[in-house]
Amino acid sequence: MNFDDTGFDDAVRAQMVQLGSALYDRGLTPGRTGNLSVRTDDAIMITPTNACLGRLDPRRLAVTSIDGVHLDGDRPSKELPLHQALYRRHPTCTAVAHLHSTSAVAVSCLPGLRTDDALPPITPYFVMRVGRLPLIDYAAPGSSELEEQVARAAEHSRSVLMRNHGSLATAPSLESAVDAVEEIEEAARLYLILEGRSPTYLGEEAVAELRRQFPPAA
Ligand SMILES: [Zn+2]
Repeated sequence: MNFDDTGFDDAVRAQMVQLGSALYDRGLTPGRTGNLSVRTDDAIMITPTNACLGRLDPRRLAVTSIDGVHLDGDRPSKELPLHQALYRRHPTCTAVAHLHSTSAVAVSCLPGLRTDDALPPITPYFVMRVGRLPLIDYAAPGSSELEEQVARAAEHSRSVLMRNHGSLATAPSLESAVDAVEEIEEAARLYLILEGRSPTYLGEEAVAELRRQFPPAA
């Protein structure tokens, strides 16, 4: 396949490279972890397997069919099925971001978290940008068990926290998917700072009002 026939133009490739680099430079996607994807009706472009998000090559980004058949660029991330699970459930969403960011992973290992919404409503921004954050049990990366759990969690949310692994979010644009995983990381960091100190979180009424004003999208 020719570079120009993939359905993903220079601008969208440049945006993925730039956002990957920004996440890496701020320590949010260390080493060769994390992945980003965007999709059209027919195809998905995702960061390659074993890629460092800080050093992506726009011409080597992996392109697959919507079913995951490799069409162009380097081989796709092994976590592509997690992205596909979110896309299937949220037809208006065209991008996914996934991070192994430190605070989100740390929180995912703690006992006593709610599985339907792992983090308390610390700030209105978390409620607006992330909504609910279901927590799923650990399963090996690349396993069908992990994919099935993500698909189940996606029934009720655009975002998922995977135990001992990291965060995953889908949104109508790559920028907003990245905003969501950054918001999860920030909320997780605040949660770790506040844990055990009897903090005040947003009340039920304030959360209900935010959810009325900013309803979770399909
Ligand atoms: Zn991962």
